[in-house]
Amino acid sequence: MIMTIVMIDNHNREINYLRISITDRCNLRCVYCMPKEGVSFIGHEDILSYEEMLRIVKVAVKTGIVKVRVTGGEPLVRRGVTDFLTSLTKVVGLRDISLTTNGILLEDYAEEIFNAGIRRINVSLDSLSADRYRDITRGGDINRVIRGIRKAHDTGFSPIKINVVAIKGFNDDEIIDLAKLTIEKPYQIRFIEFMPVGESTLENSLGYLSNDEVIKNINSFSPLEPVIPTRRDKADGPASLYTLNGAKGEIGFISAISHEFCNSCNRLRLTADGHLRACLLSDEPTTDLKTPLRDGCSNSELEILIRDLISRKPGSYQTGCQQIHRRKCATNMSSIGG
Ligand code: SAM
Ligand code: SF4
Repeated sequence: MIMTIVMIDNHNREINYLRISITDRCNLRCVYCMPKEGVSFIGHEDILSYEEMLRIVKVAVKTGIVKVRVTGGEPLVRRGVTDFLTSLTKVVGLRDISLTTNGILLEDYAEEIFNAGIRRINVSLDSLSADRYRDITRGGDINRVIRGIRKAHDTGFSPIKINVVAIKGFNDDEIIDLAKLTIEKPYQIRFIEFMPVGESTLENSLGYLSNDEVIKNINSFSPLEPVIPTRRDKADGPASLYTLNGAKGEIGFISAISHEFCNSCNRLRLTADGHLRACLLSDEPTTDLKTPLRDGCSNSELEILIRDLISRKPGSYQTGCQQIHRRKCATNMSSIGG
């Protein structure tokens, strides 16, 4: 029988979700995520091996982790990713393993990922226009992503969630078209507010757009009906879910900046260089797991380090819109994994 461990932190939150950035490399350069040039990547020797990541996951399960999301950088550019996913599905105690990808390589990998045992996938797609997609990703081919999403659908992934960073002056005139995708397709379109993390910038003509504005915009087309969250949805994360009348899919809003949801944050994040983070939007507190791991620490010592970080997880990150320029996080989103 598998014993379920429940870890409640000092702010009465159950910490059960680990996101792993398996690489900080990426085949795109989205303007809101990475600088155009001069990105300093983690040296190969400093990137955790899959074995090291698996060991951390197995110990994290002993501290209450039951869900893992594999992300990046772009996870599909790291060699051996599908074998790693297969190994994750064998970790006793994990109940849910998912993947976030930009979709560029998804058509090639969808079947392998599915055969590894993964069913839940998030794909990032910020525009339906090929030119805009190329501009925001600094060179990406939207057709590859669309083919990847179709392949994921045909292969049987469910749910398929499509992440959209809504940006004023870039894709705000496409919000209704993106929302309308849910009418015919069983996808969950998730509007994510731009977060001021690392070296990410919005170019001069582009700006932060709150999800209140996105919701207003969609409501002007057709009223959004709230989806009554099931227990599973509640455990699923911070998105508030809605649907359009008669639609096959759903629309989610992740409003980290305008409506802080720290009081329900259940996450830890492992960066590719082995740092465990307690908060997406703040570099503190963070614990280096790679050094003790490579110095030969025991699993019990690793477990103490993870529990200690959980005990220091902050109750709230003060990120009102007015504070959007007060960056507390110097690490790029591509290293943290979103
Ligand atoms: N490369 C993969 C992808 O793009 O889906 C996975 C990593 S990416 C860092 C994970 C998510 O973070 C993506 O949906 C991306 O749009 C989002 N993201 C990146 N930078 C962001 C920022 N500054 N604010 C909000 N979301 C961001
Ligand atoms: Fe790469 Fe994802 Fe960041 Fe875009 S958002 S640069 S695809 S890691």
